[in-house]
Amino acid sequence: MQMKDEKEQVALFMGRSYERGLTTSTGGNFSMRVGSVMLITPSGLDKSSLKAEDIAEVDIETGKNLTPDKKLSIETEMHRLTYKKRPDCISVMHSHPTFCCLYSASNESIDTTLIAESWYLLDRVVKIPYALMGTKELAERVSDYAGRGGNAFLLENHGALCIGKSPLNAFDRLECLEQAAKLSALSHLVKTDGIGEKERNRIADMR
Ligand SMILES: [Zn+2]
Repeated sequence: MQMKDEKEQVALFMGRSYERGLTTSTGGNFSMRVGSVMLITPSGLDKSSLKAEDIAEVDIETGKNLTPDKKLSIETEMHRLTYKKRPDCISVMHSHPTFCCLYSASNESIDTTLIAESWYLLDRVVKIPYALMGTKELAERVSDYAGRGGNAFLLENHGALCIGKSPLNAFDRLECLEQAAKLSALSHLVKTDGIGEKERNRIADMR
């Protein structure tokens, strides 16, 4: 099998996201760039038990499915166009975690300044206006926003998407984004103060 180690990583992080409650059995998708090819989780299979042999290969430039025996995720174009717009991106994770979805359906924003780690990993969260799941319109809109910068995105009335310099980095950002969303929601119950501007700038310099 080609790219066995990389496919194992894609399957592993998808499985971890299910274990952590960041996705449902068949929801969400995870991908990784390997040269000119994108490895991506398939459509329909149980995300908790994927194996390397389940992972599909797509040509990033043309969008051709290089593993025609695999049914591609409906959000394959969203991942592919994001890699084209962001040369620094090695991995993309998209799913529908509960608290991220709450904020995706609200005019309120996730506060990433409540703890230093979320400001360091996420900076500000970019909100992307609604487009129907699985459409070219969504793929183009998400990749256009990603192309302008940012690493953590909320898709209006849909879910979350994080990009990273490695599979671990993209997974870590999504996990951290869901934690920041939870803290933001809970901050309506317990009075909180975020990190001030001077300290935020010091943290930003550490990135
Ligand atoms: Zn989705």
